Amino acid sequence: MRVFDTSAASLDAVASILRRGGVVGIPTETVYGLAANALNPAAVEEIYRIKGRPSHNPLIVHIDGLSRAEWFAQWNPIAEQLANAFWPGPLTIIVRKRDSIPDVVSAGLPTVGLRAPSHPVMQEILSRLEFPLAAPSANPSNYLSPTQASHVVEHLDGKLDYVIDGGACKRGVESTIVDTTQPGRVTILRPGPISAESLSKVLGVEVQSKGFDPAQSVLTSPGQMRIHYSPRTPLSVGRMADGLAAPCACVHFEETSHAGEHNNHFFLSRNGDPREAESRLYALLQELDAGNYAHIHVDSPPETPDWDAIRDRLSRASKR
Ligand code: AMP
Ligand code: MG
Repeated sequence: MRVFDTSAASLDAVASILRRGGVVGIPTETVYGLAANALNPAAVEEIYRIKGRPSHNPLIVHIDGLSRAEWFAQWNPIAEQLANAFWPGPLTIIVRKRDSIPDVVSAGLPTVGLRAPSHPVMQEILSRLEFPLAAPSANPSNYLSPTQASHVVEHLDGKLDYVIDGGACKRGVESTIVDTTQPGRVTILRPGPISAESLSKVLGVEVQSKGFDPAQSVLTSPGQMRIHYSPRTPLSVGRMADGLAAPCACVHFEETSHAGEHNNHFFLSRNGDPREAESRLYALLQELDAGNYAHIHVDSPPETPDWDAIRDRLSRASKR
């Protein structure tokens, strides 16, 4: 895999690759994305092939801002308010799509997820292009999302030809996904860096967070798939059960006395800050997954809403 730096010449080269229908790993503020021309069905098919992603799992479309949103979607006042408040940033807004977006991008749904990322490298690339970029996370389907270029190289080498190394992703978990297509209600389909509370505050109405419902047969957001974002090493969350396979790595949300004393204890934040824990979650889990542990055990995250994204990702990572 060729690893590009972030110089203007490299970004020009990447723009040419994308114009020719290529696929490139690109950093965003959430996780690394696997990007291709969203208006070119063959290029988008290639994303699904590289990831081994099921064709029923739609892709998020990345645009350079509100000005182009109307080209791709039937915009609505709620979406407008949310975009004004949170773009560029880690918020994906589900709206009804226009015919300009190929069915392969939306996996046949009448809707599309749009996001304007704040990462300067992604913005530079989008500003060079005449088309939006479809980009799911740059990992093999169901594995942990990549937050560093090295994760992309490690897991997609031989399948993907190009990645831009833009350093570690600041947010570290995937965008919050909010559905604005249901009359009279606004729902979070996937919790992320932007909380239900901040969305509610901007809209002046209560935004519901939709938990995963195993009984639900209609896939409204495949980020809701029960098993997702998982390491290969078995992972458990909550109270330490007896008889866990050894050696076991223990993950805490704040620095505990254990973390200093035992080399199999790790912490995601120095003093229990959920945003810091999010930014380190996938990188730590990948490091532990590559280590010689038979089991990864993670403390139960606090029950408060600011831990929603972490609780959601851990609950999926622990399902077998
Ligand atoms: P990824 O970028 O890998 O996190 O995957 C993108 C996720 O966005 C999908 O798994 C879906 O959960 C969600 N998504 C994309 N488009 C739609 C849509 N039209 N409706 C609902 N969810 C969507
Ligand atoms: Mg993903």
